[in-house]
Amino acid sequence: MAPTNTSAISSHRPIVISGPSGSGKSTMLKRLFDEYPGKFGFSVSHTTRSPRAGEQNGRDYNFVTKEEFLDLVEKKGFVEHAQFGGNHYGTSIKAVEDIAEKGQVCILDIEMEGVKQVANHPSFPKPRFLFLSPPSKEVLEQRLRGRGTDKEEAIVKRLKQAEAEMDFANSPEAPHEKIIVNDDLEKAYKEVKEFIVGADA
Ligand code: ADP
Ligand code: 5GP
Repeated sequence: MAPTNTSAISSHRPIVISGPSGSGKSTMLKRLFDEYPGKFGFSVSHTTRSPRAGEQNGRDYNFVTKEEFLDLVEKKGFVEHAQFGGNHYGTSIKAVEDIAEKGQVCILDIEMEGVKQVANHPSFPKPRFLFLSPPSKEVLEQRLRGRGTDKEEAIVKRLKQAEAEMDFANSPEAPHEKIIVNDDLEKAYKEVKEFIVGADA
């Protein structure tokens, strides 16, 4: 992996949130950013997947072509990158450095291969890893379908990948400090906030 400007990004430990697609990561982060404006910086990933309704380029993701993505891989522009559901996703060095320059706490929302790369990265500051779990497979499926953003084929891929994410989170190699089950939204959000902001949140 490419080196990062650690002197610029080591003042706050980054937070890495992971968990199956549909477990509620975006929902939690949106609430957190609304409640603490300016405190956190969302690491805007690059992806080759198409934007969903309501997603904005540069805010939710940097939407790029496969060629653009692979070009940045070639230039060693990523802290980590992986494939998910047939698309490429990656955290660029620039995304995390931009957040550090603003003095914000960097938050990454990434899948498990990216989690492993970040956990083993030679120069990226040691993050705190949080895993958000759905209450059950059945509820996850209902929520993914209820979100209404993905085609059937994408939902099937996400449900299959969810099993791998859950197995990894429960394995000894997982770097997660905490697993939060997102059953009741208020309860789970309170736990997420406590983990990220502190017990006095
Ligand atoms: P992710 O970012 O992990 O893919 P989302 O935040 O998009 O997941 O959540 C998936 C769907 O589940 C969304 O429609 C969201 O509104 C819904 N959701 C999230 N948390 C809860 C909860 N605790 N109870 C019911 N629905 C939830
Ligand atoms: P979605 O398509 O639902 O936005 O994201 C699919 C999966 O890709 C989620 O698990 C999300 O956490 C993950 N993801 C988003 N950005 C990145 C990234 O930059 N790197 C990696 N490894 N995974 C990412």
